[in-house]
Amino acid sequence: MKKSGLLKTLAAAALIGISSGLAGCLTVDDSKKSTLMEKDGDYSGAVVFTYTNERFLAEEIEALCDTGNSTEASYFYVPQWHKEQADIYNAKFKMDLTCFKNQIKIPKEFIAPAGTFHPANLEEISGYLRETYLKLNDYDFLAINHVFPVEYYREGESSVYYALPNSRAFILGTIKLEDGIGISYVLPRRSSFAHEFDHLLEATDKKEDGKGCKKNPETEELYEPDDIMCARQKDENGNWLDIYRLEELRITPPTAYEIGWIRE
Ligand SMILES: [Zn+2]
Repeated sequence: MKKSGLLKTLAAAALIGISSGLAGCLTVDDSKKSTLMEKDGDYSGAVVFTYTNERFLAEEIEALCDTGNSTEASYFYVPQWHKEQADIYNAKFKMDLTCFKNQIKIPKEFIAPAGTFHPANLEEISGYLRETYLKLNDYDFLAINHVFPVEYYREGESSVYYALPNSRAFILGTIKLEDGIGISYVLPRRSSFAHEFDHLLEATDKKEDGKGCKKNPETEELYEPDDIMCARQKDENGNWLDIYRLEELRITPPTAYEIGWIRE
């Protein structure tokens, strides 16, 4: 369905809100090692599609799961992008993705209310999926795509994209937008997939809410805006916007260090 002008604006605003509200920024006990970190550069991921009420449209799933990587949306560029980045650091990296296109209904009690963020909720959802669909246990991580209703859109904060550093799953939300004219969906971005995956490898957020990048406490310099964990650029009015295109982003040395690609 075509987006109306209003929906396009809303969609752009929502994406900014979602990305700047990335809530995968919790501090975790340093003594805990990510399960993924023990995988030593070889990861298998299951891309799953979940819903409580409204489902994804089939063509959206096809776009995200296009193994030919011929669409701008396809997640299958994420493994290639990571490999290219890893090669710069002579680090080992391999990611195999499998899309499970059948949509899975998640009981609504697993989904946190709009405007709230419950870290445990992600573990509950991924636990439910792995217990219910045992074949998902074969995968190192789950990329859970979920359709959220418009109430989940909050400017500047959102619980819709999130990962926990000591986890084996992350959520990529689609937001369903409705106005008097029609319905449209804000599809998850593959740059968000890469960002949330890097959280699983213990990369930290390098963006400031509503601003540019944070300061690196070791060097006192700002993190670079095209790092996957900052991904910010200024528009012509001087406002900070997210960089969405994964092609424009990279893994800079501070992030490479966090995910173990640079060792001392
Ligand atoms: Zn983040």
